[in-house]
Amino acid sequence: MEKKLEALKTRLQEIEDVKLATAVLGWDQATYMPRGGAPARGRQMATLGQIAHEKLIDPAIGNLLDALEPWAETLPYDSNDAALIRITRYNYDQAVKIPSSLLAELNEHAAVTYQKWTSARPENNYAALRDNLAKSIDLARRMADCFPGYDHIADPLIDLSDRGMKAESVRALFADLRTQLVPLVKAITSQEPADNSCLKQHYPEDAQLAFGLQIAQKYGFDLHRGRQDKTHHPFMIKFSINDVRITTRVRENDLGEALFSTLHETGHALYEAGVSQELEGTPLDGGTSSGIHESQSRLWENLVGRSRPFWHHYYPKLQATFPDQLQNVPLDTFYRAINKVIPSLIRTDADEVTYNLHIMIRFDLELALLEGTLDVKDLPDAWHARYESDLGVRASNDINGVLQDVHWYSGIVGGAFQGYTLGNVMSALFFAQAIKAHPEITKEIAHGEFGTLHTWLKEQIYQHGSKYTANELIERVTGGPLTIEPYIQYLHTKYGELYGL
Ligand code: ZN
Repeated sequence: MEKKLEALKTRLQEIEDVKLATAVLGWDQATYMPRGGAPARGRQMATLGQIAHEKLIDPAIGNLLDALEPWAETLPYDSNDAALIRITRYNYDQAVKIPSSLLAELNEHAAVTYQKWTSARPENNYAALRDNLAKSIDLARRMADCFPGYDHIADPLIDLSDRGMKAESVRALFADLRTQLVPLVKAITSQEPADNSCLKQHYPEDAQLAFGLQIAQKYGFDLHRGRQDKTHHPFMIKFSINDVRITTRVRENDLGEALFSTLHETGHALYEAGVSQELEGTPLDGGTSSGIHESQSRLWENLVGRSRPFWHHYYPKLQATFPDQLQNVPLDTFYRAINKVIPSLIRTDADEVTYNLHIMIRFDLELALLEGTLDVKDLPDAWHARYESDLGVRASNDINGVLQDVHWYSGIVGGAFQGYTLGNVMSALFFAQAIKAHPEITKEIAHGEFGTLHTWLKEQIYQHGSKYTANELIERVTGGPLTIEPYIQYLHTKYGELYGL
């Protein structure tokens, strides 16, 4: 058995090597690559993606799994080897169902569509992308059909990023959330909006970057095992457990942009860097689902980084860094500014309360596109109609409408948005659990100390990598299933205090 296990691990290590080398190319593409490199880079990444897929669906892996499974069943469920066999079996069974030709077609279509989107968006030219989008939907349906037996055509696509979730379960959760959010948004927006002009002064780039990175390091981001660079759309990417990169973008007329995107990506990075070293080079060596991943970015960005205790400690330091801009701005004004709630057009700029409404719109529209009840030619109007009814705002163009997010122009439609809201919900669930275990965490945050919280998250969540599914992890950490209650309570407490509700 030992020999077979070693043989399997060697193969899996090679697959990880190919995937993580692809990640290096992706990081370079989004940071330092000159424009001229784009066509070759797209092809190179597609080639490596193909190689990783072919290595995974090699029948030799299936044979090794067949031989190892009876042995793995004798191991405790939470042993690393049992989890390795279990997760590899799942990945293998999924991967063999997807024909290489479909994957190749998808990769090629994704590269072409993305490239087109980068020019069509600034030109407000949705018509130029309509056929591409129609094909993305067709590809998504064909992808879903590789996994017959689903209840909803989006289920297999949702499962790829949030395993265990289905269109029906997400819809039910979103409906509950919506019932709670809509009155809260209404109560807040019936008041005078917060004044956030203090954030919109001139803030020099270098000082902004240094301030954000200093907090990231205090959170636990280790510059010996990671680094930060600038990009167009901030992201986190991992090359190994010991090399986790974050990126940010700076706007000199908006203090919030670099700061909060840095705290957000740091949350993703702490998760990846906190995975047990024993899992390095296996399919277990990364975060387990997009929802759980987003819960960590949101936790460090919002529940910690936009909290009063946090700024009790950091605001005097921020004032000392930017005295001309902030010395006459009281903490309370600043705190209200960074937590301003206002219905807006752009998802990535949305506040904590309205953010989920943006996600629900996208989720419902992509289900309708996949079901075939909404045609791509009617999508821009459907988008505007939903923004008007849900948020009371209407974009004057498609740039800030249906063209704003890259997701639908990345080759496939479906399964990409629910993770954001699941993450928001889970962030409060985990944070409440951490406070329950260690009530001193709040006081520590007010002193700029994050060790107890970081250690707890590492022990409860990070170290396990992908050993457990999101649902298993939630059950282990909280003793129950996913629930929206802690999130709703968090929003009511925080915004109730802010807006005197
Ligand atoms: Zn994120």
